[in-house]
Amino acid sequence: MKTREIFAKTILTKTGIEGFDYCINPYVGCEHGCRYCYASFMKRFTGHQEPWGDFVDVKINAPQILRGQLKRAKPGTIIFGTVTDPYQPVEKHYRLTRGCLEALLGHQFPVNLLTRSPLCVRDIDLFKEFEDITVGLSITTDDEKIKKVFEPRCASIKARVETLKALHGEGIQTYAFIGPILPLNPEKLFKIIEGAVDEVLIDKLNYSNKVKAIYRREGLERYLEGDYFHYTAMALKEYFEKRGVAVSVLF
Ligand code: SF4
Repeated sequence: MKTREIFAKTILTKTGIEGFDYCINPYVGCEHGCRYCYASFMKRFTGHQEPWGDFVDVKINAPQILRGQLKRAKPGTIIFGTVTDPYQPVEKHYRLTRGCLEALLGHQFPVNLLTRSPLCVRDIDLFKEFEDITVGLSITTDDEKIKKVFEPRCASIKARVETLKALHGEGIQTYAFIGPILPLNPEKLFKIIEGAVDEVLIDKLNYSNKVKAIYRREGLERYLEGDYFHYTAMALKEYFEKRGVAVSVLF
């Protein structure tokens, strides 16, 4: 893993993502290196030669820059982690996501954090001080073997569900992001997540070309075909909605 400390010029960036005004990415690159990750396009801008997942640039001045930007910024909703995981392993040492949250506390912009890491429970004390904060865990399958194929460096599904439960139990607004839909059993996934989330977001695999060879190697091609994504999303939606959990299907 190549880690490089850099100085960022800006950290609060306007975003076109629906429902959000700004995004914050305290890191460039992501140690999780998910095989399907769309954010690997970032390499085009950074000049990194290493494979996606093998480098992280650490914006060590992120909290200070954010404090400056917040003095002038119009209030708006912020999402953390659009092209990186804000709680990937380096966050344990650098604490930049935590530093940015501390900077935001005085302004109370609504915050949404999306991660695959149990490290986020470290910041429950801060989450509790926000008037409007939502924390999401990406959970893309119910099957640990499938997880190992596509997200080999991420926490287990079990650990992510435990994380959601811990957050939910502390009164934090939580959601599961089932995206991209990997090979999964809708009923099993529903059963392990239900009770730990206030909301569910579902998305299909948008960049299947990146992982077609892996699907072929693992004999999983049928999970790229026909109506699989639509059928799976509808089945999940039905299970969760029957329990009163709001579901948004993003495709
Ligand atoms: S955790 Fe998110 S940003 Fe990181 S590699 Fe996986 S999909 Fe990409």
